[in-house]
Amino acid sequence: MTKDEEIVKKLIKENPRNYKELSAVKRIIGKTCQSSLPSNRHLLELYHNYLKKEKIKKNEQLEYLLRIRKIRSLSGIAVITIATKPFSCPGKCLYCPNQKKMPKSYLKNEPAIMRALRNNFDPYRQVEERIISLEKNGHPVDKIELIIIGGTWSYLPYQYRAWFIKRAFDACNQKPASSLLESQKLNEKAKHRIIGITVETRPDFITEKEIIKLRKLGITRVELGVQSVYDEILKLNQRGHNVEASIKATKLLKDAGFKVCYHIMPNLPGATPEKDLKMFKILFEKQEFKPDLLKIYPTVVLKEAPLYQWQKKGIYKTYSDKNLKDLLKKIILSLPYYCRLQRMIRDIPAPSITTGSKISNLREIIEKEIKKEKLKSREIRFREVKENYNPLEKIYLFRQDYPASEGKEIFLSFENRRRTKLYSLLRLRIPSYVLEKKRFFIRALENSALIREVHTYGQLVPLSKQKLAPQHRGLGKKLIKETEKITKKEFGLKKIAVISGVGVRAYYRKLGYRLEETYMIKKL
Ligand code: SF4
Repeated sequence: MTKDEEIVKKLIKENPRNYKELSAVKRIIGKTCQSSLPSNRHLLELYHNYLKKEKIKKNEQLEYLLRIRKIRSLSGIAVITIATKPFSCPGKCLYCPNQKKMPKSYLKNEPAIMRALRNNFDPYRQVEERIISLEKNGHPVDKIELIIIGGTWSYLPYQYRAWFIKRAFDACNQKPASSLLESQKLNEKAKHRIIGITVETRPDFITEKEIIKLRKLGITRVELGVQSVYDEILKLNQRGHNVEASIKATKLLKDAGFKVCYHIMPNLPGATPEKDLKMFKILFEKQEFKPDLLKIYPTVVLKEAPLYQWQKKGIYKTYSDKNLKDLLKKIILSLPYYCRLQRMIRDIPAPSITTGSKISNLREIIEKEIKKEKLKSREIRFREVKENYNPLEKIYLFRQDYPASEGKEIFLSFENRRRTKLYSLLRLRIPSYVLEKKRFFIRALENSALIREVHTYGQLVPLSKQKLAPQHRGLGKKLIKETEKITKKEFGLKKIAVISGVGVRAYYRKLGYRLEETYMIKKL
């Protein structure tokens, strides 16, 4: 028996059930095989090699214990970020870097861009590389949230966009299709299913025509470059659109069922910490905004951006680290239950920043402080159950109604009593055109309630396995049943539509939903 074989056999035989037992097994391996303490990565590699050769049987518990960077699939889905090739952008934003041969607003040393560069910006190869790497590190990759970055998506030629998405689907299907439609169809039963696609764009590019294109491509979530709620700040930063454009885009997107994530930038030229804090109040008090998700990117100065000249001339200064941290802490504590803070701080490597915060783990620091001071952050990511899943814990159904973009939002969730552990959520919308009894440019959605999101949190459970993790305990199904009841009884509507990712269509079919245009629809 080779040394590697001996290690794997020992690992399987001892079958550790928790981290304590895993450490003990590692020590035994180190002693008996006269090797240094093996790393999880090394053990996982050996495990996969022997599994491939069918010399051992699959052991999911062991895979979970050895998994590297568990956070990558702790939200219940595997996130894969890919970038489009360099294109120009109609914007001239002061803070936006322009690096040669790079997509606008991105730098060649950002992790996702480095991956894209390695793969010549080919979506197929980018997705394939990520799937292989996630699997190698022990993550299940059967539910994928695809995030597409690279500047203003809506400005790219439609032909390129359709080709890009098809190639990404082909990579998940592990075979090329003859058309985008075929690749989407194939993905409904593929091993790696795309359960949602996110793109980033400018608010002034969201029109009815653009929404139809987004749906054809299978997009389910849009990240809007809103940046500020003050017209004078948008003007000073040469954004080229006003606040009204963000309000209109938000309404159009929500009424068509999209999830809406805002990019917001504190510390832009013209802002003060007080004004920034007020901005977040406005965002969640005024019904015109109320984003479902947020990315907060405090302004940093990069040599490649026009703002660098302002900084050199002393016209612009960033906040001190302490002031920024205090501001962000107040912001986090003010976010409502229905909002998820996706990111805080962009993935820009510190050497590229001339001025501004270089603390890449600022969020972690703030969250630790919040916990230490026994304060409570209500935003979704802070409450997601992650590894704290307890099958014996009693969970409750919560409901929060709020007006948004002239429609009505109903946020349903399963959580523990104190609302510190979120197991599952659903966003139901009664769109503005239904409340106002008006026609809508997407016929399939007329007189219909909309399910914009269903998400069950916790470790990603492979589609064919597991009973104990929160996914597949039927929580999503219970929430859907509840919304069907609300839609019919409270609003007298006979139809409900879901903006479902292609890879989740099969799930809705089982619940009686049918594909109409690009939505899954059920007549109640
Ligand atoms: S719209 Fe976005 S990508 Fe274009 S210049 Fe402005 S920040 Fe950069």
